Amino acid sequence: MTGETKSCWNVDVLTLYPEMFPGSLGQALAGKALAKGLWSLQTTQIRDFALDKHRSVDDTPSGGGPGMVLRADVVASALESVIKKNDARPRLYMSPRGKPLTQQKVHELKNAGGAIILCGRFEGVDQRVIDASDFEEVSVGDYILSGGELAAMMLMDAAIRLLPGVMGKKSSGEDESFESGLLEYPHYTRPSEWNGLTIPEILTSGHHQKIKDWRLEQSLSLTKQRRPDLFENYQLQSTRK
Ligand code: SAH
Repeated sequence: MTGETKSCWNVDVLTLYPEMFPGSLGQALAGKALAKGLWSLQTTQIRDFALDKHRSVDDTPSGGGPGMVLRADVVASALESVIKKNDARPRLYMSPRGKPLTQQKVHELKNAGGAIILCGRFEGVDQRVIDASDFEEVSVGDYILSGGELAAMMLMDAAIRLLPGVMGKKSSGEDESFESGLLEYPHYTRPSEWNGLTIPEILTSGHHQKIKDWRLEQSLSLTKQRRPDLFENYQLQSTRK
């Protein structure tokens, strides 16, 4: 024993489909970390908090329009049931109207000790419970999923891989796209020739500084070409330093 106590990243998910979890998070890196107790997951079936004998959780939108809306009272009771004493975990509502998830936000969430995540379905959730219960709306991109479960798993996957003890080598995360504000450089591995295509010579030169410079150049030009928004930010940050 090293004496180091690893804290557990503790997530509560409120969902109409608890059987979807842990899903892909039960496999590979996240699955091993779950087995090791580096993170934990409790799912809560929102339907268990329905108030009527039909166990209904949704109703038609006030003001008309298509679809159904998850009821505020039902969601509030589900939330109430998972809040622990002195629970400071952020409450997140996965929502296409939320702030787009970024690597910086993922770091913040990783450091927050866990999260309570609400997965919407249908047209979404009654706004009153979002506002009254301080749910922060988080989006995983400018497209519409059929429910918040996959979005929640994306967020969790991104945070779990950053938890201490999850990634093999600490350094394997530091070069990734977005960590430096740039997209990552391209990778190559053996065989050194494949279908007549070779690996950029510099990478097999053994010259560490030149390799580093080449990678930075690649990162810069890829970012400039593919993500001018990130590139502009990176330039701004660099001139401020
Ligand atoms: N009517 C809503 C979309 C509802 S989609 C709108 O137009 O904004 C149903 C549920 O899927 C949402 O409540 C949310 O929990 C989830 N969802 C859909 N797209 C998402 C996204 N891009 N990011 C996060 N959650 C999303």
